[in-house]
Order: sequence, then C-alpha cells, then structure tokens
Amino acid sequence: KLYNQVQDLKGNIRVYCRVRPFLTGQPNRFGTVDRIDEGSISIITPSKYGKEGRKSFSFNKVFGPLATQGEVFADTQPLIRSVLDGYNVCIFAYGQTGSGKTYTMTGPKDLTEESLGVNYRALSDLFLLSDQRKEVICYDISVQMLEIYNEQVRDLLATDDIRNSSQNGINVPDASLVSVSSPSDVLNLMNIGQRNRAVSATAMNDRSSRSHSCLTVHVQGRDLTSGAVLRGSMHLVDLAGSERVDKSEVTGDRLKEAQHINKSLSALGDVIASLAQKNSHVPYRNSKLTQLLQDSLGGQAKTLMFVHISPEADALGETISTLKFAERVA
Ligand code: ADP
Ligand code: MG
Repeated sequence: KLYNQVQDLKGNIRVYCRVRPFLTGQPNRFGTVDRIDEGSISIITPSKYGKEGRKSFSFNKVFGPLATQGEVFADTQPLIRSVLDGYNVCIFAYGQTGSGKTYTMTGPKDLTEESLGVNYRALSDLFLLSDQRKEVICYDISVQMLEIYNEQVRDLLATDDIRNSSQNGINVPDASLVSVSSPSDVLNLMNIGQRNRAVSATAMNDRSSRSHSCLTVHVQGRDLTSGAVLRGSMHLVDLAGSERVDKSEVTGDRLKEAQHINKSLSALGDVIASLAQKNSHVPYRNSKLTQLLQDSLGGQAKTLMFVHISPEADALGETISTLKFAERVA
C-alpha cells in the first residue's frame, strides 16, 4: 500500500528490470547476478583487491531469468486499460544488443502462443477491453510503425519508396496509419513492418540493433450517449542497443551510427529523469526520439521502461551501465 503511494508521488514513471536466462548451447559460464528480489537486483562485481563486491539496484519490479512472457505482461496490463480511458502510454525496451529487448516486445524468432511479447498481448487486450465496453463506447484502433535510424524517421508501413527516401525522413502525421480490428490484423502488420526493416538490414548488416523501432497505437473512443470523444495512444518502443562502442575502433558510418544512438538514448534518459524529478524544463528537443514522443512523455502520460540485462560475466560493464541508466530514471 505504502509502496503504491510512493509510486504515485514519483509520477507516472515505472522501471522494470528483466534478466535474460543463459542461452541454450552456450557454455554455462559464470554469471553476474547474485540475487534477485521482487524489487531489487544485486550484481557481483570483481574487486581490484581480490575480494568480490556486491552492488544492489532497486526498481519497481525485477523479473528473473525464469519469468514468463505472461508474467511480464501481467504487470504491464493496467497500462493498457488506461489507454482506453484516454491516456497516453509509452513502453520502452532498453538494453545492450542481445539482452532480450525484442524478446520482451515481440517474442523469439519462432513465436508460439506462450512466447508472444508485450506488443501483441497489449493489442489483443485493447481489442478485448474495447469489446467489453462496446455498449457504451465505440472505439477505433489504428497503428503506425516507425523506425528511427541516424536521427531519420522511416515509415515501416509505407507502400511507396519515395516517402522513405526523403532526406530528412518523414513527418509523423504523414506516416501510414492503418486501421485494425483484430489481433491477427496486428500480427500481419507487424510482419510487414519486420520485413521492411529487414530489407535495409541485409544491406547494412543488422541495422535492427542500431535503430529504434516504434509501434504506435491510436485509440479513439466515442461515447454512444453523449457523443463525447476521447483519445489515447500507446507507443511500444524497441530501442537501439545501448552498448558503448570503442571510439578508437570504429570510424565512418559505424561511428556516426554510434553517436546518433548515444545521443538519442541519453536524450531519452535526460527527459525521463527530468520528468521523474519534476523539473520545469524538460529537454525534448535534443533527439528525434524524444521529439516524436513529446506528447506521450510527461503530463498525464504514463511511462514504463523495461531495462534488460544479459547474465554473462563478460557483459558486466554494459550491465552496470544499463543499471545505472535505469536507476537514474527510476
Ligand atoms: P535484443 O533485442 O536486446 O538484441 P533479443 O531479444 O534478440 O535481444 O535476445 C537475444 C537472444 O536471447 C534471442 O535468441 C532471444 O530469443 C533470447 N532471449 C532473450 N530473452 C529471453 C528470455 N527471457 N527467455 C528466453 N530466451 C530469451
Ligand atoms: Mg532486438
């Protein structure tokens, strides 16, 4: 109870941490996770003095390697209801490449009913709940899929290439908005978006880990008696990998990509941290990502950040910096 009140004081920002399991086929190397509690995680850090240390981080919730997709979604579900009540919601997946962001948002490559990620579950919940209210409110649900790469926005549902190739990327209001009426409509669109992403990936070698992808859901509800209209939205964002690249090792395009990612992730961190601290100035203008989401971050809007960590010892450096990023916005 008290915990919930503390939540409210902190505004509408929640941070959940998820630890990926060791992958099968990988040698079961030493891990960095010492202990996981409901709301905290303790990491083993090697010490220069020969003795191991422990560093603990607190979040609204920590999901261990055994947490199922269903369990993870259960704690996300209340946000879905608020979209239908007219709120704007942003859900982010943050973490280094390979830590499980896409697994959380979309699921694994071979999708099964149990392994479906947050995106699909959120949309099917929206349909279910809107159907339950259909005697009172009539809802229209439509989606957009965008990618941000090198500070350029690309429409993943566009059918023409002209719009895609414009120098500065598209204006968001121009992005294809597709009306959906069932979970299978959504799965089809997600596949189209995935394919459009993959087209550039072959040319640019796994671009997906170096771009942000955003599935946006717009909900419009009309009260059948009063005629009043309410609007809600939900942004489901699979962020670019947060790993730092060694500036002495990369040059050219790769360095430019890394700088863009770095800039946009720190801009996102700055925005959420200043919202959490209730600062009067919120620096939205510093990246395409935060500009794009400006109306859905802050004010009455609700934000959920999933931070992902890999359990392997060789990921320790990135794990610590991910947890520090998350602690700053929590
Ligand atoms: P990212 O999107 O952060 O680069 P992925 O989601 O692609 O990472 O995950 C990397 C690999 O780990 C994939 O093969 C994925 O299926 C697997 N994986 C990630 N999280 C889990 C999990 N919670 N349970 C089982 N496998 C997972
Ligand atoms: Mg991914």
